[in-house]
Amino acid sequence: MAGTLTLTILKPDALQNGHTGKIIDHILGAGFRIRAMKLIHLTAAQAGQFYEVHRERPFYGDLVKYMSSGPCLPMLLEKANAVEDFRATIGATDPAKAAEGTIRKLYAQSIEANAVHGSDSDENALREAAFFFSELERV
Ligand code: ADP
Ligand code: MG
Repeated sequence: MAGTLTLTILKPDALQNGHTGKIIDHILGAGFRIRAMKLIHLTAAQAGQFYEVHRERPFYGDLVKYMSSGPCLPMLLEKANAVEDFRATIGATDPAKAAEGTIRKLYAQSIEANAVHGSDSDENALREAAFFFSELERV
């Protein structure tokens, strides 16, 4: 059975462009409950660790620089079928290919500065949740 948790990050471009409130509203409107959230500015080392799985990709260096360029807002979200439903809510990685009405279509700047992260599996959702939040920081 699909899990009920997923991890998102409102990325630096979303915060810098003033989209924080609208994106949170969109997420709540899509039926997700916020179980934890935290405003943080990642170091390059922390951003690199979070995106460890992409270390060999050509865009990794730029991605780490971008994710540590300003504050971001990780949130732990809860809903039935959380991972798949949230990926549908945010749309494709490249906003040019994202479906109408998705968060990335509405708010992303580019394939790199694409407004939000969304876990790609239940296993990664739990790993990513533990990366940002202790049990005590969850409600
Ligand atoms: P997603 O975030 O949709 O799961 P990936 O896991 O493939 O996408 O990539 C992680 C992040 O790396 C993307 O959200 C985006 O910020 C960045 N990224 C992915 N592909 C590219 C690319 N071709 N060029 C630049 N940045 C990219
Ligand atoms: Mg991914």
